[in-house]
Amino acid sequence: MARKLTKKQSKTLEQALVDERAELLDQVADLQADAGVDRWRGDASGDDPADRGTATSERETAATLSDHARRLMGEIDEALRRIEAGTYGVCTRCGENIGFDRLEAVPAAALCLDCKRRDESGR
Ligand SMILES: [Zn+2]
Repeated sequence: MARKLTKKQSKTLEQALVDERAELLDQVADLQADAGVDRWRGDASGDDPADRGTATSERETAATLSDHARRLMGEIDEALRRIEAGTYGVCTRCGENIGFDRLEAVPAAALCLDCKRRDESGR
């Protein structure tokens, strides 16, 4: 069984979450800026359907990526809320300690490795 997080470990992970969140925000902002440029270029390129097609698929890629980033950001927000509530580092399903090693790799993890594995194998 994994051990409870020390204050220091918890601080380290909180910082990692804050950093990751800032990075994601940057990424989403970049993607949105790119998508905006593509749209503008698409409009200016005239009636060539091939050009329009490229612009559209680039926009879709940007939208998918930012969806992914937003979902990740939601997980990070939840983790930060759990830190505030004092429940961070504890599996939200079984209540066991998640353990520093796993959290260091995945700071936003809400499940312990056992529950995560059970989830992935379809329970
Ligand atoms: Zn668990």
